[in-house]
Amino acid sequence: FQVPVAVNEPIKSYAPGTPERATVLEQYKAYYGSTVDIPLYIGGEEIKTGNTRNITPPHDHQHVVGSYHLAEQSHVEKAISTALEAKEKWAAMPWEQRAAIFLKAAELISGPYRDKMNAATMIAQSKNIFQAEIDSACEIIDFLRFNVQYMAEIYEDQPESDKGIWNRVEHRPLEGFVYAVTPFNFTAIAGNLPASAALMGNVVVWKPSDSQIFSAKVIVDVFKEAGVPDGVINVVYGDPAMITDTVLASPDFAGIHFTGSTTVFKNIWTKIGANINTYKTYPRIVGETGGKDFIVAHPSAIEQQVATAISRGAFEFQGQKCSAASRVYLPKSKADAILELVKKDIDSFKMGSPEDMSNFITAVIHEASFDKLAKYIDQAKEDADAEIIAGGTYDKSKGYFVQPTVILTTNPKYTTMETELFGPVVTVYAYDDEKWEETLKLVDETSEYALTGAVFSQDRYALTQATTVLQNAAGNFYVNDKPTGAVVGQQPFGGARGSGTNDKAGSKLNLYRWVSPRLIKETF
Ligand code: GLU
Repeated sequence: FQVPVAVNEPIKSYAPGTPERATVLEQYKAYYGSTVDIPLYIGGEEIKTGNTRNITPPHDHQHVVGSYHLAEQSHVEKAISTALEAKEKWAAMPWEQRAAIFLKAAELISGPYRDKMNAATMIAQSKNIFQAEIDSACEIIDFLRFNVQYMAEIYEDQPESDKGIWNRVEHRPLEGFVYAVTPFNFTAIAGNLPASAALMGNVVVWKPSDSQIFSAKVIVDVFKEAGVPDGVINVVYGDPAMITDTVLASPDFAGIHFTGSTTVFKNIWTKIGANINTYKTYPRIVGETGGKDFIVAHPSAIEQQVATAISRGAFEFQGQKCSAASRVYLPKSKADAILELVKKDIDSFKMGSPEDMSNFITAVIHEASFDKLAKYIDQAKEDADAEIIAGGTYDKSKGYFVQPTVILTTNPKYTTMETELFGPVVTVYAYDDEKWEETLKLVDETSEYALTGAVFSQDRYALTQATTVLQNAAGNFYVNDKPTGAVVGQQPFGGARGSGTNDKAGSKLNLYRWVSPRLIKETF
């Protein structure tokens, strides 16, 4: 089948003096100076429930930029029934038409909606413009474009036929509806989870995270303008437990596309298990959850390369990405030199509001994240087996600001080597150079997660060992590069163990999860 060949969206620079820098700032200020009212979106209609909650930027938590309407159980039930009503026509629509809708959505974000997407992400997720551009412009566009290409490849995937026989496969959507639950930290993921299921002919009930509703609203507007028919993607906000329980109580629940915490995902899985006899079909369970991502450097590693990977991998996006480096293993012979370079980087990072584009570090998204990080930083100041060697300050008087922090520990199983913190705090353990193999085993055993990891070495034998010993320790494994920044179409993303079902976001494998193939054998 002929579809446009997907290409990655070029990243705009936002350098001083560029037009994009001026227009995104204008949009940022426009949002900041007004309040956006965000209703539920069911059957193409905006529903105001009157029960609202404020949205405040993490870097300025007393300032209200909008509010969203909270769903009651009846609204969630309505979202389900509306989705099911829209299903027949949507599933019967020629796939090229569905593809065209989502390709148009990609172009709308690439052009007229780019500033809104980025400004909304800068405000509600406190990302600097360079991070917002990668997330809420390029990555979401890439998901939309590449998924169309993968979709065409899936429909082309047909069995052999013999003389007098025609075997063919219909890649039908799932029987029922799909529930999309999207995370607090990534706008691209928020767009991708409902869109990828819908692209394959499914109808969707979508619950974005509270901290992400501001940019989700822009995505909803894009989908509408692109021509997603009413009822195909329905959006509800509010009490997560109530929404999830209502969705899972429906016999038509056919699958969940989830990104969020390990605890919540396991909880949902348990509930699905408890309801299993009530469903018409076994639900597809697809989830990306937590991470405790590692960097391990061999004594042959290049110091500057490792230091840059720590600074970028652990602190970009305030460390609030599942892929962020959070435990680091350095050979004693090079640890001081590498950490000196990291300290230099930290000293050069400016921290503050994303409105000032020279700020590299902004606020962490939640007060709960802030409090957790502050607690572990304080703990490290007290513990005999840990020491803060860079950063270590925090302040939530105006926004949730946590300085990039490096904890050095003498205990490879120290609490912050094991616990997911989800913020700009990285813990380093320096190992004896001759204990490379033992260290690899330690990396493998220390965490329940297996999302991303990076190994640094100039020695091929050491790389081979790392690749073998760590074969189950990361779904995305980087050699001589930071463990973050997977690009759609190049590095499909996801991990196993406690990190998810590894149905790689931005891949054919993921889209296969949203179809239920029917084999037709016709004999002549
Ligand atoms: N895909 C992103 C990366 O490779 C991480 C997404 C996430 O935090 O879930 O860095």
